[in-house]
Amino acid sequence: MPYTVLMHGPSGSGKDTQADLLKQIYDIEKIGTGEMFRSLLENGSEQFQYIIDLMNSGKFISSELTYQLLDDWLQNYDSHKDWIFISVVRKSKQIRLLDELLKKYTRKLDLFLFFKLSEDAAIERMSLRKNCSICGRVYHDIYNREKFSDKCDYDNGELFIRDDDRPEAIKKRLEEYNRTIEPILYEYRRRGILIEIDASMPIDDINEEISNIEIIKNLKKIN
Ligand SMILES: [Zn+2]
Repeated sequence: MPYTVLMHGPSGSGKDTQADLLKQIYDIEKIGTGEMFRSLLENGSEQFQYIIDLMNSGKFISSELTYQLLDDWLQNYDSHKDWIFISVVRKSKQIRLLDELLKKYTRKLDLFLFFKLSEDAAIERMSLRKNCSICGRVYHDIYNREKFSDKCDYDNGELFIRDDDRPEAIKKRLEEYNRTIEPILYEYRRRGILIEIDASMPIDDINEEISNIEIIKNLKKIN
């Protein structure tokens, strides 16, 4: 049976980067609902009008609907390959939905990789972000600095800090995040498939740590 891995962590924890690094070595499918929704919206046919309307009205998309869509979306991937899911379990009720979905493919979740980011690290990564007021490009005082102070490199637009990127807002978001993630971690820890990664380490160190996990070593390599 092919392996199924789920990577999870707050935004800015680097899980996407790590999945991409694994993809260079292993013959895996990387599957996320973020990409799924983007693609559904881009191909905006009538059957997706419902979702577009929901999103536009700021309403929330139920876990059931997300998983129905994910079920269809999986047709795009090779079911004989090892799968790496990105953040497809964000609420505890989605644990069961994922179990049921995987059962249809005679698979089970083998590993839940949790990218753990301390409050200080999250604040450092997110609070130094600035957005261009014209094109929306994101700059970061450490990782991606603009050439001229507070001006966009492309269109000279004024850079500003979004209210949700201020430390107090980040702290609040992180607290909320920790509250919702706790029961999910509890369940996967109980199953013995949870591995926590210190996401504040440099990218290469994280990659090395992940590469040493038994299940990751067993993934099928690209020929
Ligand atoms: Zn700009």
